[in-house]
Amino acid sequence: MRASQFLISTLKEAPADAEVASHRLMTRAGMIKKLGAGIYTFMPMGLRVIRKVEAIVREEMNRAGAVELTMPVVQPAELWQETGRFDKMGPELLRIKDRHERDFVVQPTSEEVVTDIGRQELRSYKQLPKNLYQIQTKFRDERRPRFGLMRGREFIMKDAYSFDRDHAGAQRSYQAMAKAYRAIFDRFGLRYRAVAADSGAIGGDLSEEFQVIAATGEDAIVYCPESDYAANMEKAEALAPKGPREAASKPMTKTPTPGKSTCEDVAALLNVPLQTTVKSLVLATDETNDKGEVVKSQVWLLLVRGDHDMNEIKVGKVPGLDNGFRFATVPEIVEHFGTKPGYLGPINTKKPVKVVADREVAVMADWICGANEEDFHITGVNWGRDLPEPDAVADIRNVVEGDASPDGKGKLAIERGIEVGHIFYLGTKYSVPMNATFLDEDGKPKPFEMGCYGIGITRLPAAAIEQNHDERGIIWPDAIAPFSVVVCPIGMDRSADVKAAAEKLHDDLLAAGVDVILDDRGERPGAMFADWELIGVPHRVVISDRGLKEGQLEYQHRRDAAATKVPAGEVFTFVK
Ligand code: ATP
Ligand code: MG
Ligand code: MG
Ligand code: MG
Repeated sequence: MRASQFLISTLKEAPADAEVASHRLMTRAGMIKKLGAGIYTFMPMGLRVIRKVEAIVREEMNRAGAVELTMPVVQPAELWQETGRFDKMGPELLRIKDRHERDFVVQPTSEEVVTDIGRQELRSYKQLPKNLYQIQTKFRDERRPRFGLMRGREFIMKDAYSFDRDHAGAQRSYQAMAKAYRAIFDRFGLRYRAVAADSGAIGGDLSEEFQVIAATGEDAIVYCPESDYAANMEKAEALAPKGPREAASKPMTKTPTPGKSTCEDVAALLNVPLQTTVKSLVLATDETNDKGEVVKSQVWLLLVRGDHDMNEIKVGKVPGLDNGFRFATVPEIVEHFGTKPGYLGPINTKKPVKVVADREVAVMADWICGANEEDFHITGVNWGRDLPEPDAVADIRNVVEGDASPDGKGKLAIERGIEVGHIFYLGTKYSVPMNATFLDEDGKPKPFEMGCYGIGITRLPAAAIEQNHDERGIIWPDAIAPFSVVVCPIGMDRSADVKAAAEKLHDDLLAAGVDVILDDRGERPGAMFADWELIGVPHRVVISDRGLKEGQLEYQHRRDAAATKVPAGEVFTFVK
């Protein structure tokens, strides 16, 4: 490929709404282009990455015996009514009408359609097991699309669905996918963890998420360094003892001044370090008994990072705070709220309000918290955006760093992750309501035992960047780089030798099956190198007159601090 023919559109500035590195860098590198909230064009450079992700996934799915098909993006509502999901699913499901006023959905996933295919095409036990998959556009009307491709509304998912005769068969199909997923994620060259996930109402232990480890991840993963125990926070909490954990005490040392205070002020006031990675949140919990009397109150505090634009809270009179109230340490709170919705009540109402995790900090319009007496409150805590729906006060179960691992083999540690894949045993959840049966050996109809298996194809490159970047740009793992090698000629327009050498190297690499791009745009070296460092191509070869005179080229890996002189003939050993 020649850069002059390709579309390269790098930007100096990142968009204002880009909060994480992958969003900033994919935009600046010209890989994605925003069209609407959570809706992106995959520009040519970005599409090359996505195609490589797809190819790896496809290869391993095929190797595991799955069969590819493509199901429609727009699906008639009737099928979704059969399972009840048309009504149950809530606003994430995009419902549309055609010209005849008939209802349709835009697929967020495809259990209904694939189950419909199963009940028509898989009639006999002899045709089982089967695993059908697609790599297709999905739409989910996410409450807060953000982080670029990480949480889009339109995105690409690989979704696979297995059909089996019985539970034992379904378990084998599940295990085959668990193995294929490890093979897939190993090939991307990322640090990841397979963690147990909650299989919800279906029961059993057959659900795992594949989490790419990254500080910016939206999920918390609980694991035991001494054993192979690993679970997402939801699952870990399901096993943990019930009830709110007592906050470690940290009495307040100074009296706040009424009026506006910055988070730094509040941090100083409360004698806690300013946490630099989470947003601030000051909330009170009230536990009431059946008569509505408050039996226990706690104040929780999360501090915002100093440079954040929502870092002001108003502090009213809070003398009650040093009077029986205790503050949890910031790490405890981070683990508590940064991982799982907490259920808290503002003290001036009895209505419980669901407060979501740190990054989705709920907007608390004039939230009041603090003591249980009039005028002894922090008032006007007021930031965030949409207030989530009130939810029932649920059992709070806590898991924090240092707790004993459920397997008894050590202590728990917590880290953050990005969910890039999810495998799930479904049982007969879809086959029974849709009456999807096959004839078993005894001639009787039986519902399929099913499983479903997703991979976030477009989320994966974003996760890869969260793990692999520096101040200059992206550093792609070889397996999913848009190009493996960039050939950068210096003064190609002036020197016939440089031009000839660059073109020859490009052609030779291409002939050897290397994904190479020749930068023939005539950019100055500084600008040219900056572009490719931003785009993150792993291998760079620079060709100059001076080097050619010595029979040498300059090779530099994207992670190398400096270039190495390489005899022209040896470049291949570096880039393959
Ligand atoms: P999340 O918890 O991040 O909302 P999910 O559990 O709702 O994801 P699944 O239904 O398990 O997602 O879908 C399978 C995979 O699709 C996920 O593991 C993830 O990689 C990807 N995915 C889900 N939602 C999105 C999205 N909005 N944008 C990009 N990828 C997504
Ligand atoms: Mg989701
Ligand atoms: Mg999830
Ligand atoms: Mg999931």
